[in-house]
Amino acid sequence: AAYVPAAATTKVVRRSPLQARGGEVTIHGVSKSYGSLKVLDDVTLKVPVGSVTTILGQSGSGKSTLLRSINHLERVDAGFIAIDGELIGYRQDGQTLYELKEKEILKRRVEVGMVFQNFNLFPHLTAVENIAEAPVTVRGLSREQAEAEALDLLARVGLADKAHAYPRQLSGGQQQRVAIARALALKPKVLLFDEPTSALDPELVNEVLDVIKELARSGATLVIVTHEIGFAREVSDQVVFMEQGRILETGTPDKVFSRPDHPRTAAFLAKVL
Ligand code: ADP
Ligand code: MG
Repeated sequence: AAYVPAAATTKVVRRSPLQARGGEVTIHGVSKSYGSLKVLDDVTLKVPVGSVTTILGQSGSGKSTLLRSINHLERVDAGFIAIDGELIGYRQDGQTLYELKEKEILKRRVEVGMVFQNFNLFPHLTAVENIAEAPVTVRGLSREQAEAEALDLLARVGLADKAHAYPRQLSGGQQQRVAIARALALKPKVLLFDEPTSALDPELVNEVLDVIKELARSGATLVIVTHEIGFAREVSDQVVFMEQGRILETGTPDKVFSRPDHPRTAAFLAKVL
């Protein structure tokens, strides 16, 4: 079922590929509608191993739907998505539908971590328990081992001293850092961020962006939906601008921010910058 087309859209310089754990994302000809509303319209994009792609666009342009499709939380109507050449979910090719078994979908979904705007931590579990939960239930680690790994991850996001705090005892920025550690605990090949700082008070934004920058430096493969233009410019290898379900423009940050090809990109940037 594995299939990868030669459909790269942008040439991207790979950053420390030796440190990356894989995670090449291939999105090919993906479309999706809700009723008569076309939310994704023939989206094709390649995210190379160890690179950072940021997705910009107005509210309603399809950014979250695209991320959720990569994680196979959405079923696409046409096209396909692959991680390291392995199909994720379905591939609708004209009249032919290739479909993975549910068990296989669940296995592959673990390879794609996701961090949401609203943290989504379990309120009744401490930070360390939030992080250790899935490794125990999904990866089959012993609780002892999972909590040891969770403590390492908490240290990595600068929260070693908050291991036993409950979410309500943490600031939004701290909760989001726990959520990032929780996503990392399943050792995903790719990490997706959907507006990870949009729900935060302005003074808490940077502590979360700093953690994401550190992940980028370490060679992780990241796809980030964000409205933080300065951050996007600094961290991205590739910037994607979406409008009405379509990718209007893809390029290096320098290109997209300084010399956009599309007048709609320029108009969007003029509003947010
Ligand atoms: P963005 O993340 O860029 O704001 P979304 O992907 O969330 O955009 O949404 C794209 C469009 O799809 C919007 O018009 C939204 O209202 C619509 N949409 C999203 N999810 C659903 C759903 N489950 N049912 C119907 N419409 C939806
Ligand atoms: Mg969204």
